[in-house]
Amino acid sequence: AQQLFAELREKLSPGGGDVVSEAGRQRTIDLFGEPLTPQQVVEKICSDVREEGLKALLHYTEKLDRKELSGETIRVSQEELAAAHAQAEPDFLETVRDIRDNVMEFQQEILSQDASVIRTDGAALIELRQRYLPLRRVGICVPGGAAAYPSTVLMTAVPAQAAGVKEIAIVVPPTEFGGYNIDMLATCHELGITEVYRVGGAQAVAALAYGVEGIERVDKIVGPGNLFVALAKRHVFGEVDIDSIAGPSEVIVLADETANPKFVASDLISQAEHSPGSGVLITWHAPLIDAVRTELERQLNLLSRGDLAKQSLEDYGALILARSEQEAAELTDLMATEHLHISTNDPEAMLSRVQNAGAIFLGHYTPVAIGDYVAGPSHVLPTGGTARFANGLCANDFLKRSSIISYNKAALEADAHDVRMMADKEGLTAHRSSVDLRLEDES
Ligand code: NAD
Repeated sequence: AQQLFAELREKLSPGGGDVVSEAGRQRTIDLFGEPLTPQQVVEKICSDVREEGLKALLHYTEKLDRKELSGETIRVSQEELAAAHAQAEPDFLETVRDIRDNVMEFQQEILSQDASVIRTDGAALIELRQRYLPLRRVGICVPGGAAAYPSTVLMTAVPAQAAGVKEIAIVVPPTEFGGYNIDMLATCHELGITEVYRVGGAQAVAALAYGVEGIERVDKIVGPGNLFVALAKRHVFGEVDIDSIAGPSEVIVLADETANPKFVASDLISQAEHSPGSGVLITWHAPLIDAVRTELERQLNLLSRGDLAKQSLEDYGALILARSEQEAAELTDLMATEHLHISTNDPEAMLSRVQNAGAIFLGHYTPVAIGDYVAGPSHVLPTGGTARFANGLCANDFLKRSSIISYNKAALEADAHDVRMMADKEGLTAHRSSVDLRLEDES
């Protein structure tokens, strides 16, 4: 499995699995009179927005998105949000509310709870607590270059709302799929989001991180985006928190003889249609490989985005025949995929053998699309093998925690020896005397 993994890793992950090194290799538009890598472009945009604020934000919006906006028109007005909501199909709004309720229910249920430990010994009393509070202000990137993503608004803003975040600012490119998209704006209005800015790319991330006239800086930036958004989030990390550096979508379908080739093919194609997106079948049941290949060809010819998905599968897809169930499980674990679909007779048994995956879908009737759109966990997930250490977005990512420590004098006396010992070892004499002075004091 190790060897197979080494061979597959580079090939299967769009961008080689590493957004940043890929960015270093690419050349981009001649934005500044010389060919620069995306990384260099992003650094320049971020530093200009930091220094020149709104002026630079408007300049890059005009240059990159061909949209002349002003400090006033950059923000979607409350009238526009309400008008979009009024224009949206009632059925669509019903769906938005259903999904909002599902996401809210799950995200509230998983919220971290305050915890405490109390130690007593005679007169000594020690109280230790961990307290969680929501972040005050959060920025959300919603993509809008190639398609409209109202689902991304739901899968990022509702977890933030579940955590109790009061201020949510959305940035979305000024395009028909973005800041002028009825469904996207109606979704914002339905969720009670009032701050929506028609800016995208690195300049929007920088505006959220540093703040510009009319856009107050945020504490954390979350949400997906293209390479420029991902690189900008990485650039501003430290100034603000971020969720993750997400790359293109991917799925592994782990299937046995009970899997339906039609279902498996549809799962592979639904990731590939993100274009680029990676779809991989791993099975130990040889006849499934040919059956899925036949189904892929049939379905790709029927779908509107079939050509894009086909190209993605040719570039980043694979049908892998493992020598055993054990080898399939090991390979899956090593690949640490964003989405894992376990399409076997006993998915729970396989689940216990795989540790690394962003979101796991169990059984023949749980397609990834149900998690993308409806179920409750967020669809913002770690990609490119980072599920080895990273997690999908959830309400807890919008909480910050403080530890709270309280000692009375008797408790301080009881622990004084250990403080003195450590302070002496580290040569920090003021640490020692902060304890000694208190214990000597009779007032
Ligand atoms: P986007 O909306 O993220 O970014 C568009 C912006 O990029 C533009 O506004 C522009 O400012 C900037 N830009 C474009 N070309 C540039 C250049 N050459 N130099 C500098 N800046 C440039 O873009 P998108 O195309 O909609 O991509 C969204 C990505 O997010 C897709 O890959 C999609 O699959 C992914 N996505 C992921 C999820 C998820 O949850 N994982 C959800 C939705 C979308």
